[in-house]
Formats: sequence, structure tokens, C-alpha cells
Amino acid sequence: MTNNDIKEIKQLLETPKRIIIVPHKNPDGDAIGSILGLFHYLKSKGHDVVVIAPNDYPDFLKWIPGEDTIIRHESDTVKANAFIDTAELIFTLDFNSLNRTGSMEPNLVAAKGIKIMIDHHQQPKEYAKYVYSDISMCSTSEMVYHFIEMLDDVKAINKDIATSLYVGIMTDTGSFSFNSTTSTTHRVVADLIDKGANNAQIHSNVYDTNTFSRTQLLGCALNNLKVIPEYKTAYISLTQDELNTFNFKKGDTEGVVNYGLSIENVVFAAIFIEHKKEGVVKISLRSKGDFDVNDFARNHFNGGGHLNAAGGRSELSLKDTLEKFISLLPNYSKDLK
Ligand code: 5GP
Ligand code: MN
Repeated sequence: MTNNDIKEIKQLLETPKRIIIVPHKNPDGDAIGSILGLFHYLKSKGHDVVVIAPNDYPDFLKWIPGEDTIIRHESDTVKANAFIDTAELIFTLDFNSLNRTGSMEPNLVAAKGIKIMIDHHQQPKEYAKYVYSDISMCSTSEMVYHFIEMLDDVKAINKDIATSLYVGIMTDTGSFSFNSTTSTTHRVVADLIDKGANNAQIHSNVYDTNTFSRTQLLGCALNNLKVIPEYKTAYISLTQDELNTFNFKKGDTEGVVNYGLSIENVVFAAIFIEHKKEGVVKISLRSKGDFDVNDFARNHFNGGGHLNAAGGRSELSLKDTLEKFISLLPNYSKDLK
């Protein structure tokens, strides 16, 4: 984002605008945290702001201030499309290719509003007039803080903005444990706490609200965990039947892939989750060090993400997907041995 971009965005925001903010499909903590942080900021500046998510998100995010105003495109399509069609400004957060918005894609492509991308994923597509893309950032939520900083308006950050952005930074950094967490991240987080984010309460709201069945599903996943020591790889699979047994709800498997990486000497972890109704296996990939899971997901599983965290999908059966995965590992023996 150039100084001139910032100047132009400041000018655009000087008068009240009709604005929509959009996260990616299956939004996670950073997607919801960043859009709500920006939502509260733009509202406080007198804009007419609506947040439209492609679809629903996990219950453990359903306490963030303003969350109850989010429109789901999947279930409220006509209303959502009317907002997309008439918006003057369209912020797209935590993704960088419009196909990550699922059913919203055609309307977003056709929309006349000026698009502004804020995102930290690799290989951004060129759909936005203004692009703030930085793959070194731990989270889009930290970028929203820096965006407000670039607008010279950090003083406008209130408790609701601080709380929302804190959620996104905390969840996308594994509670400040990943490599992407920098001293600047900690300075931003310190300021968010000063501005009213209640760190202990937020952590508890997100991580201490498991249902009994979700905890049992974790037990099942850990039971299914396999390690392939020669490739420093661990993977978990969950069948649709297992999901049903433990009353699976959206978000229940978030973070489970990381247990593979917690095993000594493992540098590559994966989870494969069968979704029979959609006919796909959803895949999450995580790594430590140089092994590039963004590349792996793009090349083999129709996905993408970051160097150390990516996702993708497979239309093969769960069994065939696992066989494909295992058969790929020898091609990476240089990186994984
Ligand atoms: P997760 O495994 O938690 O779903 O996603 C890990 C990271 O990869 C997130 O940053 C997410 O946005 C990205 N990601 C997940 N699935 C996909 C996908 O299908 N395509 C792309 N390009 N990125 C994905
Ligand atoms: Mn993110």
C-alpha cells in the first residue's frame, strides 16, 4: 500500500460511505476478528457498514461484539446481494482470491464498489484497487491495526475494536506461539489490552467453551493419529460416521491438526476430514521450519495458505485421499528427512 493509496483511502473515508466488509468462506477467528475490528472502526467514523460472511462460523466466535449483525450470504442471499450491488467501498479481509468467498464470488466480481484487500496469504490475485498484502504478518487482524495506524487514527481504537482484533491475533498465532508472532505483534497486543481488550476473558471465551462431545471427538481424532517417522509426518483422519457419533458442529475440529506437530521430531502434520454430503475431504496442513505446506496444498489438494499453515480439499474417497497423501511423501524426502 503506497502513501498515495493511503491518501486516496483517507479522502474516500472523509465522507460517509456505504461499505461492506467480507471475509473468506468458513471464516476462522482471524477472519471474524479482523472484519469486526474494521466494522467497529468504520462505524465509529459515521459510515454505513454491513458485514457479509459467505457462510456460518463456529460458536466459539459468537460472543464478539457486533457478531450478531453479520449477514450470511448462504442463508440470506437476496438481502446480501443487495448490499454487495450498492456498496461504494468493499473491504475483503483475510483472503486474496475472490473464489475464497464461495457463493458470493459472482456478485463480488460484478460489484461496482471500490475494492480494498487487507490480507496476509501468499500469491494475491489482482481484483482490488487498493491492496495491503503482507505475508510476513501473523494475522489480518494485526494488519487492520496497522491500517488504522496508517490512517493516523490509533486513538480511535475503542474496546470493541480492541477485543475483535485481539481475537484474530490470538487465534492466528496459536496464542502468540507461532514464528509469525513478532515483537511488533506483542506491542500491538499490549496496546489492544490498554484499549480495553480483556485478554484472559477473551482466551477463555474462545478456548474454554468445549462441549463434552467436542472433547470426545478430539479423543477420537488422537486415537486415529498416525506417525510416519521416516518422513517426520503425522496425520489424523476422521470419517463422517465418527463426526456423527460425536455430534460434530462447525469449528469442532479447529486446532486438532496441531496435535500432530506437538510430537517430537514431527515437522509436517495433516488432518483429513470426510464430509460425505458435500462429497469432499477437507484437509488442513501444518509444518514447522522450511517445509512449505502452501505449495503442497496448491500442487496436490486444490488449496493454499501460508508457508506453515494451509488447507485444501480432495474429491477422492477418504481412503484414496490418504493413500495419495502417503504416496506423495517420498517426493519430499529431501525436505522431510
Ligand atoms: P485451515 O487449515 O485452518 O482451514 O487453514 C489454514 C490456512 O490456509 C488459513 O490461512 C486458510 O485461509 C488457508 N486455507 C485453507 N483452506 C484453503 C483453500 O482451500 N484455499 C486457499 N487458498 N487457502 C486455504
Ligand atoms: Mn488469517
